Order: sequence, then C-alpha cells, then structure tokens
Amino acid sequence: MIERLADPAEARAWCAERRESGASVGFVPTMGALHIGHLSLVERAVAENDFACVSVFVNPLQFDDPSDLECYPRDFEGDARLLEGVGCAMVFTGTLEQFFPGELSADGALASARLVDPGPAAEGLEGACRSGHFGGVATIVERLFEVVEPERAYFGRKDYQQALVIADLARRRGGPRGIVCDIVRESSGLACSSRNALLTDGERERAVCLSRSLETVDAAWREGARDAALLGALLRENLERVGVEVEYAELRDPERWSAAAPLGELERAVALVAARVGGVRLIDNRVLGVGGDGRG
Ligand code: AMP
Repeated sequence: MIERLADPAEARAWCAERRESGASVGFVPTMGALHIGHLSLVERAVAENDFACVSVFVNPLQFDDPSDLECYPRDFEGDARLLEGVGCAMVFTGTLEQFFPGELSADGALASARLVDPGPAAEGLEGACRSGHFGGVATIVERLFEVVEPERAYFGRKDYQQALVIADLARRRGGPRGIVCDIVRESSGLACSSRNALLTDGERERAVCLSRSLETVDAAWREGARDAALLGALLRENLERVGVEVEYAELRDPERWSAAAPLGELERAVALVAARVGGVRLIDNRVLGVGGDGRG
C-alpha cells in the first residue's frame, strides 16, 4: 500500500527514516492530475532507488494568473491510485502554510524577498511570458528538496527551461542528482500534459500542431537549415497557419542558454514553443537532429 501523507512535516520524517537506514530515496515533484508522462518519471525513480516518493502540490507561487491556478485540474485520490500501481512508496501533499510555516503574511502570501532567485536560465521564453514563474518554481522545489533530501530527483524534458533552472538549483545546493527524462507523447504526437484534460475534442486536434511544427523544423534541420531566425520563423508560420495563438516559437543552443534567440547559424539547437489553444496554454520542445525523444 502506498503511504499517503497530507503534511510535509510527516513526509520529512518518513524520508529521514528511510535515509537513516541507508536506503536511497528517489523523488518526483508534480502538480498532480497525473498522466503517463509523470508515471514514466515515477517508474524510473522506482527502478533506480530503494524507495520512490512523489509530491502533489499545485504551487500557487508559480502561477501569475489566478484563473489558471483555479482551473488547474486536481484529483489526489486518482493520483494516489496511479502511483500505487507503479510501485511508488509514498505520496505527499500540503498547503502553502505547511510548506512555509510561520512565513506567510496575513493575506496568505510569501514575502517576495523570501523567493529563491532562479538564476540566468529563467531569463527569456517562459520566464518572459510568465512573470515570477521560475522564482515560484525554484522556491517550492528547494523546499521540497529540504523535505525529501532525495538522492535523485526526476524531471521531464517537456518543461525544458524548468529542467535547466532546477539543474542550477541542485548544483548550487550540492544535490540531489537531477535526472531529465524524455517527453512522453500521445499517439497523435501531442505531448502529455495535465492541461490536455481542459481541451475540447476540436482543440485537442488543433493542439497537435505544436508537435507537428516541431517535426517540420526538425526536418528542415536535417536538410541542412541552420539559421536560428529562419528556423524560428518556420516554426511560428506552421503554428499560425492552424490558428493557435503563439506566445513564442524560438530556437536556443541547448548547451548555452540565452534570454534572446541566438543570431546566425547554430551548431546545436532546441526548438521551443508556447501557444494557446482555445483558452489552454500548452508548451512543447524538440532537440533538433537527434531523434524524436531528444536522446540522439
Ligand atoms: P507538472 O505536474 O506539470 O509540474 O510536471 C511534473 C513533472 O513531470 C515535471 O518534471 C514535468 O516536466 C514532467 N512531465 C510533465 N509532462 C511530461 C511528459 N509529457 N513527458 C515527460 N515528463 C513530463
């Protein structure tokens, strides 16, 4: 039976007990409404550690839009059942107050001075579109690491820029070892996301243009196209043709993050998109020229 804990203080004790007995703990932070993408991370954590644990917390610190926070899908009981099915030993949740006891103001907010600096990987793209987002992510992930003190923590490449921010955070604090896992997609190519549950059938069909546009740019790369601006324009054009509202469609050098798109020819490239389909904001990315899952 999976252990379900509703208080981070209990989760801390549970993890400490296992670590002190010499066991390794693998950790997957999530916001719940779990799908096969999340479960792929958990399966890997189960396989590579003595115990795997998962947090389910819709972190208000990382939402800049209150209605987005309110609409975010939640299903803790369903999540716990799925986690039990893949061998996860413990799932925990909590409230902002429980994660930051005595640190919230009367209106329930965390002082901005208390937010963790997410570092240079937070600049541009998601960081530019979602004010304060990565500060909120870095703050909760640091706290989650303090609760679990995992040996390994697992993240999805689906949130490409987030994985960079967390890798920097883990490096600064000397652990855990961060493991970035491949993007899991539906058979249509649409990247699995908790937000997909909010799409109507028609929107779901249109949403496939994100992965299709990335494939088109990948094909151009394979045929020798290297110019960042040209590839970015091709990406945007393919999205706009389907009528989705593009927030960004740009290239980056995967080995050297930059706030703005690099100029001129690229030696290596990752293409990243964010677009609104109906009212639902979706992101996707693809490392070019290395195969569909980014591994090469
Ligand atoms: P979230 O619940 O959206 O915060 O995601 C929790 C973790 O699951 C993050 O590290 C995500 O990058 C990862 N994740 C979400 N969707 C996918 C996917 N389709 N494939 C692989 N990992 C994913």
